[in-house]
Amino acid sequence: MTTAPLFNRLALIGVGLIGSSIARAARAQGVAREIVATTRSTVTRNRVTELNLADQVVGTNIEAVAGADLIIVCIPVGACGPIALEIGPHLAPGCIVSDVGSVKGSVLRDMAPHLPASVHFVPAHPVAGTENSGPDAGFAELFVNRWCILTPPENADKAAVEKLAAFWRALGANVETMPAEHHDLVLAITSHLPHLIAYTIVGTADELSVVTRSEVLKFSAGGFRDFTRIAASDPTMWRDVFLTNKDAVLEMLGRFNDDIGALTNAIKSGDGETLFDHFSRTREIRRGIVQIGQDAPAPDFGRPHPSLPADSAEQSKKKSE
Ligand code: NAP
Repeated sequence: MTTAPLFNRLALIGVGLIGSSIARAARAQGVAREIVATTRSTVTRNRVTELNLADQVVGTNIEAVAGADLIIVCIPVGACGPIALEIGPHLAPGCIVSDVGSVKGSVLRDMAPHLPASVHFVPAHPVAGTENSGPDAGFAELFVNRWCILTPPENADKAAVEKLAAFWRALGANVETMPAEHHDLVLAITSHLPHLIAYTIVGTADELSVVTRSEVLKFSAGGFRDFTRIAASDPTMWRDVFLTNKDAVLEMLGRFNDDIGALTNAIKSGDGETLFDHFSRTREIRRGIVQIGQDAPAPDFGRPHPSLPADSAEQSKKKSE
């Protein structure tokens, strides 16, 4: 335990990749005296029990929130409104209600009206994840050195916002606060559009008839492979992201279409200078991300590079002698 517990009872509603990572990290850091968890299906609840992710696994959202001083809703954004409606009357006065949704405007709009004035609502988005889902996919270090963005409503209680920020810092995250609308615009370009592009390109490759599916798989290391990782992300979560962050995604998509049009024209007209300048600028962006520690400089995303088979290394040595 690195700090005295910030909370007495942490309630997690939804225990997939993010909920289970919070449970693991919160326990490792001792930030809550007790962790109670619930999730929609019996199958996942049983798995959460088997993995021993919480002190108590309960069957309903109402049981989970009873007496909790921090409640974090870790489910797809489209499902957050009905949960707020259900738990609203059962929340302890003074508790903090938060979430982890990838879109913040819709969560604020859908949850806030159902929460009593006696509780503090502070939406949050840990900008950390993988393409895997479910309680087995989580790990305690997921949030280390990643950003967690808090989007409190204008009238939010400062002490409650600071307490939630301290919780996320204890889990290893850096914390930033911004209005929900701005969050949705930023994430539209840094996360939502890249996922849309990955989903598109993987689908397009799959539908090509001139290149066979086996060729696509065989030669995927030429760039396609990295898109397939992103395109393996959870369909329910991403359906909800695009439906709830429609305006910001469409705005960024419009800009992207303009830019891809400009590059298309450069290719058509043989304008190598435009292509070179553009690719040089984007290479600098990648280097900047590495410089601020948001990715490692290892080539090929740090994938292990296999060594040559011993006999072929020997053969090439002989050939060069
Ligand atoms: P996940 O691994 O697929 O887990 C989803 C959880 O939500 C499960 O406990 C599931 O319950 C529950 N759930 C699904 N649909 C539901 C519904 N309609 N009503 C009530 N519960 C429902 O998802 P995740 O990756 O942890 O994502 C959870 C949230 O975190 C999403 O809002 C997502 O936008 C956000 N987020 C995700 C990432 C990422 O990279 N994955 C990163 C940052 C934030 P059962 O298993 O019992 O059905």
